[in-house]
Order: sequence, then structure tokens, then C-alpha cells
Amino acid sequence: MKNTLNKITILGTGTSTGIPMLGCSCIVCTSLDHRDQRLRTSIYFETKKNQKILVDTSPDLRTQLLNNKISAIDSVIITHDHADHIHGIDDLRPFCFGPPEKSIPLYLNDETNESLKVRFPYIFQTSKKPILGGGIPKLNSQVVELEKNVSIGGEDFFFFNYPHGHSVTMGFIHDDFAYIVDCMELPERIIEVLKARKLSLLILDCLQRKAHTTHLTVEKSFDYIRRINPQKTGLIHVGHDLSHRELMGLASKEFGDKVFPLYDGQKLFY
Ligand SMILES: [Zn+2]
Ligand SMILES: [Zn+2]
Repeated sequence: MKNTLNKITILGTGTSTGIPMLGCSCIVCTSLDHRDQRLRTSIYFETKKNQKILVDTSPDLRTQLLNNKISAIDSVIITHDHADHIHGIDDLRPFCFGPPEKSIPLYLNDETNESLKVRFPYIFQTSKKPILGGGIPKLNSQVVELEKNVSIGGEDFFFFNYPHGHSVTMGFIHDDFAYIVDCMELPERIIEVLKARKLSLLILDCLQRKAHTTHLTVEKSFDYIRRINPQKTGLIHVGHDLSHRELMGLASKEFGDKVFPLYDGQKLFY
């Protein structure tokens, strides 16, 4: 059955430590507002053509899939190789068990593909040793062409890289939705592409107020939103410097209800 809209489930909205951060007793980490309890950043979306796509395999993946009653995954997009985005990769195993046993395509850039082979040789270099016991996730890595229109399972995607400190992250556009996490800076030509796509929804990195070496600050994030001008923007990868309420206040002062912090479990449509 076809859906009338693409549906996103927000699996996690927190920075690499998750919120609350272990051992921290700050006002955000001890907040009773459920929107301040943030698992590691990840989303899941179901397209109009019924493709079920997971973005990143966070260390919280199992909990995130249970919390949101997700029982099927057709493919996975990996944005980059940082621990908070990939260390739940083994939790993809039950989706491969079958019957029939199946392999899940993993869409990624060249940098992430090379890194995953080194980080998880037991998954990505299996010819060396036979696997015994509980097994491994059967994943079929596919390096995507960047800055071109690419078709995945009948869906149109546009993937692009941008700087994230010493490394790069891969973002994407699907229909009129763009996903940009773990971003230090967006190249000018990518800003132009995003503007031209007249986005209905942008999900954008927004870590904290003070400067950071690998992430967007509130100020820089708001700056990009002004330039890209999507109908709606959800802020993600939030640290414990900002409560949901506080960030909501900062966003609504500038943009009314067009910009808002996301929270775990939230559903969005485009
Ligand atoms: Zn991250
Ligand atoms: Zn990162």
C-alpha cells in the first residue's frame, strides 16, 4: 500500500554522549521534561513507495527500534564513521536472520566505506575467517555517487559531503527533505543546491551556543536556515548546553513556528 506522505520517525536527537550525560547533574541532564532525554542522533523514514530507510546505527539503536516498534528495514544510510553514529551496527543482525536470510544495503561515501572495513573487519572482511555462533549483520556496502541524482529502490536521492572537523559527513536530499547532521560548515555550492530545491523540511545540526571544532553552533545553524529558507526546520544533535525549552525559545524568537528543536520519538511528514 502506498503512503500519501513520506513519514519520518525521530529515533534520537542527542549529541555523542546522549542526554543525560553519565555523571552530569546539570539542569538539562536532570530535567524532567521528556524532550530533554536524548538518545544518540538517528532517524528512520518510510517513503511514499514504502521503502523503510534507517539513517545511522547509533549505540542506542536497539532501544530506539524497540521504543518506536520498528520491525523492518530495507536499507541504511551511514552519514559518517563516528562512534555515536555507527556503534550499534550489530543490532542490524535480526533484520538479516530471515527466513529467508537477507542482506541489507548500506549507502555511504568512500571515506566511511574504507573506515568501516578497518573498524569492523569481522563484518566487512568476512573472507578471512568463517563466522560461528550468533553471526554478523549481512551488509552490502554501496558507495554512492555524490552531487548527482541517484536512484535507490526507486527513490530519488542527492548525496553530498561537507566538513565535520577532521573528517567529512554525508548529507542527503530526498524529495523536498534534506538531512544534515554533524556539520562544521556547508560548502557554498551545497547551500545553493539546497536553496534551489525549495525544501519543505530540513533537519539540521545544532549542538550548542558556544563555538565548537566540529559542529554548528546555534548562531551558525540559524544563519544557514535563513539562507536555505526551508518551510520547516528541525534542530538535532543537541548537547546539554541547551534544554528543549530554551532552544525552542531561541528558535521561535527568530523564526516563529518554522524552526524547532526535535525530540526523540517525534514524527514528521513531508
Ligand atoms: Zn554525532
Ligand atoms: Zn560526528
